[in-house]
Amino acid sequence: MAQDYEALLKQILEAAACYSSGSGAQAPAPAPAAPAGGLEPIPVGISNRHIHLSQADLDVLFGPGYELTKIKDLKQPGQFACKETLTIVGPKGALEKVRVLGPLRKATQVEVLLGDSFKLGIKPPTRMSGDLAGSPGCTLVGPAGTVILAEGVIVAQRHIHMTAAEAAAYGVANGQIVSMEFDGPRCGILGNVAIRAGEGHSLECHVDTEEANALAITSKTTFKLIK
Ligand SMILES: [Zn+2]
Repeated sequence: MAQDYEALLKQILEAAACYSSGSGAQAPAPAPAAPAGGLEPIPVGISNRHIHLSQADLDVLFGPGYELTKIKDLKQPGQFACKETLTIVGPKGALEKVRVLGPLRKATQVEVLLGDSFKLGIKPPTRMSGDLAGSPGCTLVGPAGTVILAEGVIVAQRHIHMTAAEAAAYGVANGQIVSMEFDGPRCGILGNVAIRAGEGHSLECHVDTEEANALAITSKTTFKLIK
């Protein structure tokens, strides 16, 4: 159901973009504007709330020896969406059917949307993946058990993945903070975008669904990189 919803949301956003252009549903997507220097436009990946699990927590939530079921490879090398979902519970409420992403990690990490934090009654910081120190916890409920996390709930900081060679081509460095300028009816500039460059990264910018909706960004949207 969550995937159906995402597909529907994508269709709605794309239809809205066509409508606002005044050229009807058959209007082609605007041709991606190549950045200065002839570089390829950076693809946009839109992330919904999701969960990365440790082996120990997987065993508790789904049963000892359980293995994740891959349903889709993600653009970042080795990363994949799983069939498995969990319920996130906070002091004020719960979110059901939250997707688990693989592979397993050293520590469980729960990435929520800012809007989710109000429903859950949790105040997560905006952080890069893996930077969990001092973040709040939550309860995860799976088919075989429940895990109470002391920490690990964050809102993902927007970022751009790229190889070291691509970083050199774009003239940016790993860890650098840049901005992204979007055109269109809900145009705007998103600042505080972290560059994640090096091994294991494939060219793609990651924003969450709230950021995407705020600026009517779809997976076909292009943007201008501002250094
Ligand atoms: Zn990412």
